[in-house]
Amino acid sequence: MKLFPLFANLDGRSVLLVGGGAVAERKAALLTAAKARVDIVAATLSTTLGELARAGKVRHLARQFSAEQLDGRWLAIAATDDGALNATVAAAAKTRHIFVNVVDDAELSSFHVPAIVDRSPLIVAISSGGSAPMLARLARERIEAYFDHTWGALADLLGQARARIRERFARVADRRRFYEHVLRGPVVRLIHQQRHDDAAAALAAELDASTTSAQPDAAGDSPFAAPPPAVGSVVLVGAGPGDPGLLTLHALRALNEADVILHDRLVSDAVLDLARRDAERVDVGKIVGKHHTPQDSIQALMLANALAGKRVVRLKGGDPFVFGRGGEEIEFLRAHGVPYSIVPGITAAVACSAYAGIPLTHRDHAQVVRFATAHRKRSEGESDALTAGGETLAIYMGVAEFASVRDKLYDEGVSAGTAFAIIENGTRPEQRVFTGTLAELVECAAAFEVRAPALLVVGEVAQLAEGHHWFGAAPLK
Ligand code: SAH
Repeated sequence: MKLFPLFANLDGRSVLLVGGGAVAERKAALLTAAKARVDIVAATLSTTLGELARAGKVRHLARQFSAEQLDGRWLAIAATDDGALNATVAAAAKTRHIFVNVVDDAELSSFHVPAIVDRSPLIVAISSGGSAPMLARLARERIEAYFDHTWGALADLLGQARARIRERFARVADRRRFYEHVLRGPVVRLIHQQRHDDAAAALAAELDASTTSAQPDAAGDSPFAAPPPAVGSVVLVGAGPGDPGLLTLHALRALNEADVILHDRLVSDAVLDLARRDAERVDVGKIVGKHHTPQDSIQALMLANALAGKRVVRLKGGDPFVFGRGGEEIEFLRAHGVPYSIVPGITAAVACSAYAGIPLTHRDHAQVVRFATAHRKRSEGESDALTAGGETLAIYMGVAEFASVRDKLYDEGVSAGTAFAIIENGTRPEQRVFTGTLAELVECAAAFEVRAPALLVVGEVAQLAEGHHWFGAAPLK
């Protein structure tokens, strides 16, 4: 091991910072965040450092460096752009046995400042020992994505309960099992939902439940008996339109934590590839007309898995609340007392129009956007007008019904010359875009054998695809 990893407590301790520019500014920010007393030596201070000095957050000690300024310091940082000066600071610190960091000089430094992921009080620090700072930065980016910002609050909550937990479970192995149990349960979910008081109550309840359940038996076995599996939870996750790069970080995290994934047919393999390997996957995809797995069976599956204590991800194409039956599913979950949360996804209208170069609104063309579906519940009235005057209409699920969609638009006074674009397999490698005017819609769809999933955009903005397209092949007409 080239470097010994170490977290230093600098609260109230004195650090000498040599340099007054942008690099020194970043170091000063870190040091003051750790409540160090920062004395700066620099000919001039940057504007920000000047402000910090005036506010009393740092002190401008001197303009010129001299070795005795190091006396009584815990650490020193040389952050000037003068190599000789940096070397002088490093040598003077070395003779005094003060740890010194020389910015961008691994050899002169006796300590390095790691790349960090800050979820205070939880901090992940990464170092490549000066060999490959770029790799350390890359590792940091990945870790950043993996741990969402609620980890800090979780660490705080566990910190507050730590003494109680230690007292209850004297043995390390028992404590570990208790923590593992807690981290799979409602405490974490409630923190994600920004319900901190409920999370604290849930943690207290877990502690009570497991403490009453057992005393060490005669054989001295673990006093920790996990309470019977609590109800699991369901996360309704929007998977976006297909390109896995369009998943949100929350969606990715949910896929990594899932025990069971119930996904629609629309969810691409590229997205499913990102899920936890040992999660059970069930394709609950439905095909219009032939209801393979009716909604009732999907809901029953969600419920059965949640009641078995599993973390269920209900993964849907696009966004769960845009023609995704998400509303019905949470009504069902609520009725059965199953906790749920929702991760929105990028809906087809937003994603497909972007990948086709069609702005849904545009100062010159459209001030209103409407998302509509051609495929409606039979019982529904026919009152939801499809109009397209000065607005953009995004029509979902219209592939089998282009003729009736067109006729309805005509009935509502939309002219035959209005532009349309069809985006088939939007955002996927096989994306195709077709454009024309309403009069040509049915023939165009037939000629190119348009298949689901495809989105129909009607309105002036549709004609912009021709000039603005950037993804895949140029639009066909
Ligand atoms: N909840 C989804 C919509 C489900 S309805 C969302 O928010 O996007 C299914 C319809 O969405 C399809 O018939 C099609 O009209 C549209 N759609 C979904 N993904 C698509 C894609 N990659 N390309 C084109 N249309 C898509």
